[in-house]
Amino acid sequence: MKNITVIGSGTMGSGIAHCFAQYGLKVSLVDLTQEALDNARHKIANNLDRQVKKELLTIADKNATLDRISFLTELQKAVAKADLIVEAASENSAVKKKIFEQLDQWAPEHCILASNTSSISITSLASYTKRPENVIGMHFMNPVPVMRLVEVIKGHITSSSTLAKIEALTKQIEKVPLIAADYPGFVANRILLPMINEAIETLFQGVADVASIDEIMKLGMAHPMGPLRLADFIGLDVCLSILEVLHQGFGKDKYAPCPLLKNMVAAGKLGLKSKSGFYDYRDDPRNPRPMTF
Ligand code: NAD
Repeated sequence: MKNITVIGSGTMGSGIAHCFAQYGLKVSLVDLTQEALDNARHKIANNLDRQVKKELLTIADKNATLDRISFLTELQKAVAKADLIVEAASENSAVKKKIFEQLDQWAPEHCILASNTSSISITSLASYTKRPENVIGMHFMNPVPVMRLVEVIKGHITSSSTLAKIEALTKQIEKVPLIAADYPGFVANRILLPMINEAIETLFQGVADVASIDEIMKLGMAHPMGPLRLADFIGLDVCLSILEVLHQGFGKDKYAPCPLLKNMVAAGKLGLKSKSGFYDYRDDPRNPRPMTF
């Protein structure tokens, strides 16, 4: 695989483009606006600078990595020569449906269509194309340049040759592919989100405050970050939408999102990205203050 197109240049897409380009692959990064792409370029450059400071990369590596990424707003042009497309646009079924229909029309026949979706069925995305055997999930973890796991989701009709190519490519960029079948939440989110939801429920019932819940899980379970801080980091809207997918997909009450989470999302308190969630990030985003509930 030589030419890779990444769709969506937000939190995940910018990190995915960074990683492929760092390992010598040519990447076209696509978003709806030039402003989004400028932000992504800035973010990738900052993250590369951090790697240079830690002596993981040289300045020449940094410049070569940035040079391998083209920033484009025109999807049709960006996918014309792609061997692999990784869709990392907003987690919205209608948005992804439209993108997969367009990719099926515009991407070369051999091209593999991957999605970084956290919760949408890969088999349903595949059904919007005439090449379901070429459709697969590549679920990177946030922050992408740091986290080594790629959860590879085998849709109902994904071919073994598509799976083998994606496993090989994941190893080529020094990440670890682990395979999950296409059921709601796959593996990572099916286990993580109920834990986060239970932490929110614990707060909602007044069992302990934000700082105590997070410290108990850090000191008691050796988690690097407490569940409420992690929820803020993921985005409370993203947490809510994954829980809704689990709730609908399995039809079990144990996945029902906590009312406090629903209220916070409705109030626009989305965590780190809105500077307010279970913590207040306005003064010092690296050392936020726990909120009182
Ligand atoms: P984000 O909101 O940071 O970025 C999404 C980007 O997609 C935005 O820049 C938006 O302008 C762009 N976009 C929307 N529609 C588009 C279109 N039609 N064409 C091109 N660009 C379009 O979102 P994110 O957190 O990067 O999430 C992206 C995907 O990755 C989602 O499917 C999400 O579920 C998944 N994911 C997120 C995380 C996480 O921790 N944030 C982790 C794993 C997977």
